[in-house]
Amino acid sequence: MKFNYLIVGAGFFGSVLAERIANELNSKVLVIDKNSHIGGNCYSELDEKSGIEFHRYGTHIFHTSSKKVWDYITRFTEFNSYHHQVLTTHKNKVYQMPINLETINSFYNLNLNPYDAKEFLKKEIEKEGIKDPKNLEEKAISLIGRSLYEALIKSYTFKQWGKDPKELPPSIITRLPLRYNYREDYFVDARWQGIPLEGYTKVFERMLNSPNIHVELNCDYFKYRNDFNVREKIIYTGPIDQYFDYIYGNLEWRTVKFQKELIEIEDYQGTSVMNYGDIEVPYTRIHEPRHLHPERRYTKQKTVIFYEKSEYDPINPYYPINTERNHTLFNQYKELMQKENKVIIGGRLGDYAYYDMDKTILAALKCYEDKICKKNR
Ligand SMILES: Cc1cc2nc3c(=O)[nH]c(=O)nc-3n(C[C@H](O)[C@H](O)[C@H](O)COP(=O)(O)OP(=O)(O)OC[C@H]3O[C@@H](n4cnc5c(N)ncnc54)[C@H](O)[C@@H]3O)c2cc1C
Repeated sequence: MKFNYLIVGAGFFGSVLAERIANELNSKVLVIDKNSHIGGNCYSELDEKSGIEFHRYGTHIFHTSSKKVWDYITRFTEFNSYHHQVLTTHKNKVYQMPINLETINSFYNLNLNPYDAKEFLKKEIEKEGIKDPKNLEEKAISLIGRSLYEALIKSYTFKQWGKDPKELPPSIITRLPLRYNYREDYFVDARWQGIPLEGYTKVFERMLNSPNIHVELNCDYFKYRNDFNVREKIIYTGPIDQYFDYIYGNLEWRTVKFQKELIEIEDYQGTSVMNYGDIEVPYTRIHEPRHLHPERRYTKQKTVIFYEKSEYDPINPYYPINTERNHTLFNQYKELMQKENKVIIGGRLGDYAYYDMDKTILAALKCYEDKICKKNR
């Protein structure tokens, strides 16, 4: 079988392009992935013992305000009514995140209205007198004041980055959302949100289900790089530094590790994600995926939870690290990328960026329209 396009990576970026090329251009596509499954970082599977569906690489909530993305993705799935909320435990008390009026009142044991809460926090911030934050700690204090920072952000950040926030650049956080109302929806601006009714993997199965698409799993591009005979283009969605053999050095990533536990009760924590802000607690979050599908009739005898810990591990790229060094390095690789004629590099690993799923889908649709479709008209 001959292929016009080779797509490296069966995550959202690669799968959207494969689907468009196969169905709209009626062109043959080979999709390869080094994983043993499709779906990339969004892969979902069933826990054998409880029958509960979970996301292998961390809880994924779909949310978007782009009609283009929503119209596209809903061709492959319906969504349930799940709305995301984040809570954090500090000193055995649970607070709402991002910080809202309920968090402020509960933390300071007050009963302020929105206006008074704003004035109250303004004074807390002014007390510190930080005009030009030199590190992440100063930046956070200049945004929410010292007490809230020390309780809810400091140790959580330390556990996330493995470094004292004083040693981290202020650029890592651009803002800390503060709400002077009681809204507890995490994705407050999203017009649509939810979890695919039959899970994420089903979405990818449907996208890649075409006689024009052939999928090869457990297939590392770098092992067979010279064997592919591609007529049109290679679309590469792996790490950009690896594509160029790390000639300028490797981009740094923060990794999260998950440890699964089966518990013989119906509900462990009453919510899908609970943050742990205290340094004595060795994990950053606990995920309980049964809450992602309130519409399903899961067993009442069992639940699964996942302890999340953060690590530095360049082999398993999860979150890009927003430092000057990585920014400069990426720009060097980007210059090399611009010289490639036959290869398109994209997706979260190719762009060294944190993209939500909707942004990834939008970027893939744009890439199809600008770089593939136009050329074939
Ligand atoms: C912990 C975490 C939680 C997240 N939660 C959310 C969320 O709640 N909501 C949301 O909207 N977004 C979330 N995201 C973002 C979401 O995961 C991304 O938007 C999406 O995965 C990007 O798709 P992609 O195709 O660019 O990358 P990926 O899904 O990573 O796909 C890239 C694929 O390329 C393959 N590949 C790499 N190198 C090679 C090679 N050499 N040969 C063959 N194959 C290769 C990989 O195996 C992978 O399958 C989260 C991300 C993380 C890290």
